[in-house]
Amino acid sequence: MSYTMRVLEQVIKRNPNEPEFHQAVTETLTSLQPYVDANPEYEKAGILERLCEPERIIIFRVPWVDDSGKVHVNKGYRVQFNSAIGPYKGGIRFHPSVNLSIMKFLSFEQVLKNSLTGLPIGGGKGGANFDPKGKSEREIMAFCQSFMTELYRHIGENVDVPAGDIGVGKREIGFLYGQYKRIVNSYDSVFTGKGLTYGGSLGRTEATGYGLVYLTEEMLRQHGDSIENKTVVVSGSGNVAIHAAEKVQQLGGKVVALSDSNGFVYDADGIDIDAVKEIKLVKRGRIYEYTDYRKNAVYTEGSKGIWGIKCDIALPCATQNELDGDDAKELVKNGCFAVCEGANMPSTSEAVKVFLENKVLYVPGKAANAGGVAVSALEMSQNAMRTSWTFEEVDQKLKEIMINIYNNIANVAKEVGHEDNFVVGANIAGFKKVAEAMMQQGVV
Ligand code: NDP
Repeated sequence: MSYTMRVLEQVIKRNPNEPEFHQAVTETLTSLQPYVDANPEYEKAGILERLCEPERIIIFRVPWVDDSGKVHVNKGYRVQFNSAIGPYKGGIRFHPSVNLSIMKFLSFEQVLKNSLTGLPIGGGKGGANFDPKGKSEREIMAFCQSFMTELYRHIGENVDVPAGDIGVGKREIGFLYGQYKRIVNSYDSVFTGKGLTYGGSLGRTEATGYGLVYLTEEMLRQHGDSIENKTVVVSGSGNVAIHAAEKVQQLGGKVVALSDSNGFVYDADGIDIDAVKEIKLVKRGRIYEYTDYRKNAVYTEGSKGIWGIKCDIALPCATQNELDGDDAKELVKNGCFAVCEGANMPSTSEAVKVFLENKVLYVPGKAANAGGVAVSALEMSQNAMRTSWTFEEVDQKLKEIMINIYNNIANVAKEVGHEDNFVVGANIAGFKKVAEAMMQQGVV
């Protein structure tokens, strides 16, 4: 059995009951196999064994008190996966589904994603199985403060720099950062995604969604096409989905659907982004409320149905494994020719197989959604330089980074004889830089 497959078998055996982590490692190692096995120095240095074992995992209790005086306890995590090319960097997720497997898959993916940005950042991820939905402002603050009262000792601007993710936006980052600063008594730039009044970067909120669309547009351009006049389905209606939809429409595409975990809305005339922003960002409401704004729009219960809508381009921007093999077949049948992932691992392994077999232009999240973390790294640079760039400057840098990522993954895929297989391209391109840094730093 090859070195790569032996390591994969060992990872699965050593980490039982972690299906999402197995899925992410399997997808990555399978596409790295020919490349890694052709370069025996990787085996000699134990690179894959080290790449698949987090440098450190912190799991902690998060006790907090609700508005009625009842005590709750959640589980908090920070997985510091790999710091070969820079301090750990990756978001914090608050969602009831959070567990060790999800934290490990996200931080494993983050290592290669951060490498692809070309910026000096390692990979990590954290979170808690806390559900912010339906909580009062004070309860959210109490939870964030308790979470940070443990986390602060493990992070730092040269150690580990968290950011937002599902359930963690500007509000939560403000509460987390405020508590960090209070404990350490220092204005470190230990978080990204901060508010603009205390060190945040213009363009960070939009970065993941905009970056996703910049990469998609570049890919289409290099295939003699563009987003203009295309029908696009975007899943989710959070930070990534809203800004992806907004950029698609700025480029002349028509977004006809958005979803949340309860269902999806279809608007044949094109989604009204301002209405969605008001519902989701101002009122913190549900996507079904969209039909109050646009009378022709139709709401359907159950979020999976969104993949049955006819479209040219699909941008899954909600969560992991939201699009399975049958959904992928349905998309292909309806003529969808490009799928770029705003979310992390939204397509199951079967779905990815369907896309590749049918020559769909498919870009995995670790490349397509890297714009968020890239602008986070730009936020770190601005903080270090004690300066702030304009929105246009940040947006221009984001665009350049996404075009570079596309060229990098496309060129690597071509070099290894898999033209337009961006799974292979992203994994090998991301891996090469991390592996080289690890080799140069010795066995650590
Ligand atoms: P938000 O919390 O802003 O939005 C998440 C959206 O996904 C909501 O519409 C939510 O619906 C939906 N969703 C969450 N869980 C589920 C589920 N189990 N089933 C169906 N829908 C679900 O998060 P983001 O927009 O920030 O993140 C979305 C994805 O993008 C995640 O995979 C994240 O890891 C990834 N990502 C985010 C980055 C960022 O900068 N924010 C950077 C790179 C990747 P509901 O309200 O019903 O829960």
